[in-house]
Order: sequence, then structure tokens, then C-alpha cells
Amino acid sequence: MVSIDEDVLAKLVKDKTLEKVLYYIAEGKPLSIHYDLEHGYHYPQIESEAEILPSESARILSDLASLKILSEKILFLSVICPTCHSTNIAVVYRCPRCGSVAIRKDLLMEHIPCGYIGFKPSFEEKGLAVCPRCGKTVSEDVRIVGVWFVCSSCGSRFPEPGHNLFCRICKEFFTVKDSSMEFIVEYYVSDEVSATLRKLIFPSRIKSILEDSGFRVEENIAVKGKSGVVHPFDFIVRRDPGRAIAFLIENTLKPITEAKVIEWYTRSVDVGMDVVYVTAAYISDGARNLMKFYDLSVVEAEDSRDAEAKVRKIVEALRG
Ligand SMILES: [Zn+2]
Ligand SMILES: [Zn+2]
Ligand SMILES: [Zn+2]
Repeated sequence: MVSIDEDVLAKLVKDKTLEKVLYYIAEGKPLSIHYDLEHGYHYPQIESEAEILPSESARILSDLASLKILSEKILFLSVICPTCHSTNIAVVYRCPRCGSVAIRKDLLMEHIPCGYIGFKPSFEEKGLAVCPRCGKTVSEDVRIVGVWFVCSSCGSRFPEPGHNLFCRICKEFFTVKDSSMEFIVEYYVSDEVSATLRKLIFPSRIKSILEDSGFRVEENIAVKGKSGVVHPFDFIVRRDPGRAIAFLIENTLKPITEAKVIEWYTRSVDVGMDVVYVTAAYISDGARNLMKFYDLSVVEAEDSRDAEAKVRKIVEALRG
């Protein structure tokens, strides 16, 4: 069962950018997320192949996820600067009492032979490691029993420092409560959607096949029929001298029924042109019989690659 909304893909491939993005996804190429200081979290492979900007990729992929074309896995919640929206953020430790950043880590040590416990500086006398209780030189007979922090400004000690966040780009300090946040998401394509995408016919790829065959190609042309109704076509190809041939790509998830074939026939008669219908959708037996009865040219493809191969054959035959 396909969970993508019926025919949403047909609309998406009409957009040149989304067509490239969907082609990339249909090819099963990686959607790995990457981090760099210039762009933050982004998806460089799809950006370079689909020619989209690093600033656009997250939004486009998120839109495709809301259309159920991509599935998402949340990696974590990222902190974002509330002022400039950068993710180039550092954690800055501060004294929880006076807010000073001048804090240091202090180790609590035990001299094992005599049991004396004190902070590390208490063992350091004149550069020598000497136990302040028993006066013996200490070497490997000490162990760390705790870690504390000391504020150099107000002298307070605390087990954990307080912290602020610091934006390395706009140099602003802010708290966790003030920060903006965003889910960092990894995307993948389910097997079910992959199978659907393989049946999606990409208009740009069909266009280049038509152009490679030496035809003049007009794209997204509306033709007014004898009835006055205007019929949109994906391509009209011409070769001088010769008749124009219209191509209509039927990117649908629904099966092709008799009703659809009657619609095709009416369209062909109304515009009075040779029309080639291209589809990878399932065609019912009744619809196929009707196609033959009306003598319609239909490229009945297994998937997008098959559609491209069959269109190439047709135009090669037309070229003679
Ligand atoms: Zn900032
Ligand atoms: Zn302090
Ligand atoms: Zn001692």
C-alpha cells in the first residue's frame, strides 16, 4: 500500500528543482547529513547533484518528509544561537555564585599511608609533593578522591560549574532557556516509496531524449482543441518538414482505467494531433483493449528507465 498522497509526485516533478531532488532520491543515492562551520548541518551530496543550496536542503527534505516521500530519524536537538541562528556554539563554564568565567578544576587527593585528604595545592610545598599531615614525600601513594571547581574571583568551591552558551559567530552569551533549538534529522527512503519512485517519469530526462534526436522541443504547451477546451501537454516536438507530435506524461499512482483511455482519446481527437501518452502506471485489461480499439500511441513502461528507453525508440523511428 502506497502511503504517498495520490498524484502528488506528478505535481512535484513539474518543479525543476524538486524533479532533480526526486531523481537523486529515486536513484537510491545517499542522504547523509554533514556538519561544517560554514553551513552548519546540511546534506552536501544531494546539494551538489540536485544543484540546491546548503541553506535550502534541510527545508526541501523536511517538506518531502511531510509528504511521506522521505522517512525521518531524529538524531538530536541542536542548540542554535537566538540572535544569528548559527549552530557554531561553545559551552562556557561559569561560577554558579558570581558568574565569573575564571574558574579552575581542583582535585581532592588522599595520601593513602596516613589517610590525609586535601586539595591538590595542599600537597605542593616549594615545588615538592609533600603530605601536610605526615610530612612524607608523596609519589604514587596518593589517589584522586574527588573533583571540585574553584572560582578565582569569589573563592567559592562547587562540584559542578554553571554554564552559559557562547555563539562563536556573533559573540553573544546566552542561556539554555534563551537558546533556539532545532531537531537534527537524518532522512531515508522506505522500500515502498523507492518502488514508487522507480515508476516516476522525469520530464527533463524525456526532454533531453527528444532533443538528442534532433527535434525542436517545446515544453509545457497548452493546445486549444476544436471544442475550445485547452489541453496541456508536456512536450510538442517538431521536425521540418513534418507533423508536430505531442507527448503527455501520465505520472499517476492510480491504475489506468477505461475512463482515462476515453479521456486520452477525446484529447487526441480534439487537438487533432498525434499524441504519445507515456505512463508507468498499471493498465487494466479493459483499458488496454480500448487503447488498441482507439489506436492510441501509449508508451506502457515498467518503470522510468523503461519509459526512457521506449521513448528513445519511438523518436528514433520517427527520425527514420
Ligand atoms: Zn550568534
Ligand atoms: Zn565566583
Ligand atoms: Zn601523609
